[in-house]
Amino acid sequence: MTVQVPEELARLHRFVSWYEQPRWLPEAARDGNVCVWCASPADATAVEPAPSAGLPRRACMRCYAAQLAWYITWYDWHRHFSACTPCRQHQTCLVGHGRRLLHEKTMPPIDKRPVCLSCPAPLLGTELVAPVRWEGSEGFNLGYAHLRCLSRRPSVT
Ligand SMILES: [Zn+2]
Ligand SMILES: [Zn+2]
Ligand SMILES: [Zn+2]
Repeated sequence: MTVQVPEELARLHRFVSWYEQPRWLPEAARDGNVCVWCASPADATAVEPAPSAGLPRRACMRCYAAQLAWYITWYDWHRHFSACTPCRQHQTCLVGHGRRLLHEKTMPPIDKRPVCLSCPAPLLGTELVAPVRWEGSEGFNLGYAHLRCLSRRPSVT
């Protein structure tokens, strides 16, 4: 895994805070007494989701690290993919595949399911898949697409 520079971590912290917190929180979580994800009692190691001013929410280290791992490994994969000629030319690349596997390991703990952004078929381990980013109504979305589907949508990066 790549070492994250502080400003990159701050960016990922905002993504986790804005996009991954449950839309509805029980009162104890809104008051910062329990973790926003697992509802375990907040202790001294709890992390404050951004923005923290006026909102006393807390996340336990275990849940927070699990959310962050999804973002870090997605960006590691995306960074490689954008710079790698075999990956961009839709050839099998062991490094790219390794990054994908690392990223996929972060999904079950936070209940994320990989879906292709342009077709309803599941992303199989034997298929070539790309990490893709596109702009939606609530900002950037991070996701995936089959390479065969991607070639029909040249606008995503
Ligand atoms: Zn938790
Ligand atoms: Zn590659
Ligand atoms: Zn597809």
